[in-house]
Order: sequence, then structure tokens, then C-alpha cells
Amino acid sequence: MHPAEPQDPRRSVPRTDAVLTDPRVAAAVAERGRDVVKDAVRRAQARVRAGELAAGDLVEAVLTALPPAGTTLRRVLNATGAVLHTNLGRAQLSVAAVEAVVTAAGATDVEMDLVTGRRARRGRGTVAALRAAVPAAGDVHVVNNGAAALVLVATALAAGKEIVVSRGELVEIGDGFRLPDLLESTGARLREVGTTNRTSLADYRAALSERTGFVLKVHPSNFVVTGFTAGVQAGELAGELAGLGVPVVVDIGSGLLAPDPALPAEPDAATVLAAGADLVTASGDKLLGGPQAGLLLGQAGLVERLRRHPLARALRVDKLTLAALEATLRAAPNPTRDAVHADPAVLRERCTAVAEALRGSGIDVGVEPSAAVVGGGGAPGVELDSWVVSLPPDLAVPLRTGDPSVAGRVEGGRLLLDLRTVPADADGLLVAAVRGAGR
Ligand SMILES: *Cc1c(COP(=O)(O)O)cnc(C)c1O
Repeated sequence: MHPAEPQDPRRSVPRTDAVLTDPRVAAAVAERGRDVVKDAVRRAQARVRAGELAAGDLVEAVLTALPPAGTTLRRVLNATGAVLHTNLGRAQLSVAAVEAVVTAAGATDVEMDLVTGRRARRGRGTVAALRAAVPAAGDVHVVNNGAAALVLVATALAAGKEIVVSRGELVEIGDGFRLPDLLESTGARLREVGTTNRTSLADYRAALSERTGFVLKVHPSNFVVTGFTAGVQAGELAGELAGLGVPVVVDIGSGLLAPDPALPAEPDAATVLAAGADLVTASGDKLLGGPQAGLLLGQAGLVERLRRHPLARALRVDKLTLAALEATLRAAPNPTRDAVHADPAVLRERCTAVAEALRGSGIDVGVEPSAAVVGGGGAPGVELDSWVVSLPPDLAVPLRTGDPSVAGRVEGGRLLLDLRTVPADADGLLVAAVRGAGR
């Protein structure tokens, strides 16, 4: 009998290229970069050679040894059924927008003409794309968010003056922030007209004076007033104010640039400007489906005043936002539009396929019809027919804290995953996450 010869550990050390083909390691390379991962592989190989680590545990050791990622933010699959979930960062960027952000991340010609080498208008490509999307706008300007757009207009056109606005439109936009407080913080005074449910053209007319800076219309984007109601359309107001030199400013909120038949009650920039409004303000990360941004579109002279105002410098957007916004405007599909327009029959098929893929996992899975919403304070009262994968509610926490995180909603004692708000190419990830959570 020969004593078992001790195996040479070097012979069993997995090779670097083999380790890098492991799907989990490949995913780490994609997320964290090759150098960081290779470094961790080399250190784990040294431990195997030293006999401290079994060769079969090397991949696990590599993954746990990776230094913390640059951001503590985690990827979340939004299966809540709210297309624009405020707590999940509103709109999900399109692939084109993400690529544009990566391109712009280094040195970029955001403010330089590369032919002459001279300074050029900042973000001119984004401005051109916005103007092409809304030909009725004489000019456009982009600021940090919808609230910033309102602050800039109020400061530039009404500081020390009055903003005439209907009592039914003084809304709270969320997290305790109220538009009237925001507007008055600029030094403008509010001249409230009408009542909560009814405001007439005569109410506006009676409030006009030499102190009027502008007349503001705010789209009540997060609530609906029904019953005995009356309001005045932007077009009627513009007609009434024509020639008086009092601008009509409309805060449409959601950022639809043109009408969307799926959301007939949502105002859009093109229609509101064509009706005679002088300026429109909107958000970039709601129904437009872009990055957080505030859009100002309208009469060229007014936009130029806003652009030249000292405050504009404090509200200006960075190159990453400009890049993502331009790509969102130039590439038609984006996750927000896809989610709003998804065909319920296709959603049902996707849910059935997910349930099928989970068969044999021991998890109690169902498929049910449901209703999704636009969310993010948009299109109140609108329900989008949808389908959900229904799971035991005790999977909610492991799914939310898994990787990727999956956020659903618990309703009627079940965890519902609404596929309308999940990009179709993420269904495989979702299945893997549910399997992982069920273990
Ligand atoms: C969302 C919204 C705002 C605020 O826009 P942010 O981009 O969140 O700053 C203002 N007005 C209306 C009508 C809105 O819907």
C-alpha cells in the first residue's frame, strides 16, 4: 500500500480565463470592470495554491472579496405596477439614454464647437432635439427639474409682482412640497382667483392689474376634481390676454410633448402652445421617460429672458442630463412609453411564461388580471389593464432585498408582480430572483 500522494495544489487552481467565464463573475466584470475582478481572482488563486481555499469555492471567494461598489444604490426591478414610481427614481432610462450618459461621462463637446474650437451654446444638440419634437415652441431651455422651471419663471417674470392663479390649481406635488410655497419663495405674490371647484374667465379678468407678472395654469396632475366644476382652458386665457403683454404660463407637469391617445386627459406641450400659451413647463422624468429635468418651451423672447437670468446658472443641468435627454428625444422607444402602451394580451403571455418557468420550484404561483397606474403623480384616475404573477406574501422581503431587488405590491394577502412595469427583457432575471427568494 502506498500512502496517498499529496496532490499538488497548483494543478487544481482554476485558470483565470475559466473563472471569468462563470456567469456570476462575468456579471461582476460587466458591473465593476475587469481589473477589479481579475485582482480578486488572483488573490483567490493564491489562497487555493496556499491550501487555504478549496478550488471549488474559488468563485464564491472572488465574489465576496470584491471591494464595495461605487454606489450604494441597487438595481431594482419595478414590478409594482406604478410606471413612474417616485421612490424608485421615476422614469427608467432607455438603452440609448444610458449609452449617451456613458459617452458624455468623460470630456465632451457640451459647450464647444469642435470645428472652430470655440465656445458654443451649451447642450445645443438637446435644444435642437426638443425644438424638433415641439415645432410650436419658438425656443426651449432645460433646467434641473419641473420645480426649478417654475422657480425660474416666477423669479424672472414676477418677482415683486403677482402671479394670477386659480385656487383649484394650488397643488401639493409630494413629500410636503406645495406649489404656492415654491412660487412665493421667489418673492412673487399669488393672486388667487376662483374657488376650489370653479374658476371663470371673468375671475381672471378681474384680477389683472399693472402688478400682474403672468397668469399661471397648473395641471392638477395628481388628483381629479369631479362634480360641479368649471375651469378655463389655456387657449381661452390666451385669447383674453392677447395684446395685454401678460404671458400665459402653463405647468403641464408630466412632460408629454404631443398628445398620447392612451392618456387622453393628459395635456401636452404641442397642443397647449398651439392653443396660445406663451410658455409651458414640464418634467423630464415623468411621461417623457427621460432623466430628471425641467423643460421650458415657448416664445423665443421669454425663453431668452429666462436663459439670461442670473438664477438660470444655479438651475442649469449637467452634461449627463443633457446627453440622456437628447437620446430620449431622438430614440422613439423608451421603457416608460413601452410600459404605458404594452398590450395586455402580451402581458398575460409574459406572466404565463414566468409562472411556467417557476413550475417545479415548489412556490405557489398564480397569474391574474390587474390594473397598473402611471404613478409619480401623473394621470390620476387612469387605470392601465395589466396582468400580474401572484406569489406567497412572505416572498416580498427576500425579493426586495435580493439581487437584483424585485419590488412588487402586497394585495389581498398575495405578493403581486405586475409585468407592465418590468422591461420585457428582464423576465429571465425576475424568474431567477423569485427562485432565489423561494430557497
Ligand atoms: C411633477 C410636477 C411638478 C414638479 O416637477 P418635478 O420635476 O418633480 O420638480 C410640478 N408641477 C406639476 C403639475 C407636476 O405634475
